[in-house]
Amino acid sequence: MVDTMKMVVKSALFQTLLMVSIEKVFGVINGKMVVILMYHGVIEDRADLSCWWQLPYKNFVWQMCYLKEENYNVIHLKDLIRIMNSGESLPDRCVVLTFDDGYENNFTLAYPLLRALKLPATIFLTTDLIGTDTLLWSDEVFLYSSLNGLAEDPNSFKNMPSTKKNEILSHLRARFKADAALLDTHKYFKLLNWQQVDEMKASGWIDFGAHSCTHEILSQLDEPTLCYEIKNSCSRIGQLSKPVFFAFPNGRTEDYDARAIELLRESGVACALTAQRGLNSYNQDPFDMKRIAIGNKTSQAEFKLLCSGAIE
Ligand SMILES: [Zn+2]
Repeated sequence: MVDTMKMVVKSALFQTLLMVSIEKVFGVINGKMVVILMYHGVIEDRADLSCWWQLPYKNFVWQMCYLKEENYNVIHLKDLIRIMNSGESLPDRCVVLTFDDGYENNFTLAYPLLRALKLPATIFLTTDLIGTDTLLWSDEVFLYSSLNGLAEDPNSFKNMPSTKKNEILSHLRARFKADAALLDTHKYFKLLNWQQVDEMKASGWIDFGAHSCTHEILSQLDEPTLCYEIKNSCSRIGQLSKPVFFAFPNGRTEDYDARAIELLRESGVACALTAQRGLNSYNQDPFDMKRIAIGNKTSQAEFKLLCSGAIE
């Protein structure tokens, strides 16, 4: 009830801001601030699947067409970093598109539209899981909790040592192995394979970054595991694309630490993206890049205001 009230108030506020064309005013004021949008999955036929990170395809189509029609400068992340490092001036109203995790639906749904509209994007891959049937552990937690299979609070998994988390998950895998509802939903969370990655890369519209090897939360890891997650994922991505970019798994400030940033620098990584909400200035710390998460509840009014920098 409180959430519904909040949404009604928020929506009324957004409509009022748009009525006075505030997004146009902020488009000018924030002309030199860069908006990096953070997507995950895009799904076509399961609007009822209530996880925020799987965006209904029709919303995605509307958002990409809006960026095109409003003449936003949608640029590759690699171009943004090159411009920031070179001291050249940034084009006005820059937007960078990013996708985390490496879902197969990035290839089947998002990529054909991006290519048709000539919009560049960067996909951050969970490298050890690409080309396998293994899902992200966080998606497994979501699926088991939606089947009432969890004794624990789903959020508690984020702060759990990986050995304990993997032990619980292996019990749940065995328990739900033949569950029809699980198997039906499984496909929406499937990850890309390397042929799909290569095909997108060859198009020139899609670039790739590293998102660790297995999506473990970096601040929870001991030194050798942390080293493995960073160095191996960056070296795999380095075979595809240089310079290497990284997106922190889960991306909150508490999900990574100085050890991780040091290892990224040692690995020659050019920038690291967080999931902290905000705009980026011309002088942004390249290891503290902010993003704006777009989810299944992002309305058209909110999207317009977010892209202009009128709200964060
Ligand atoms: Zn992720």
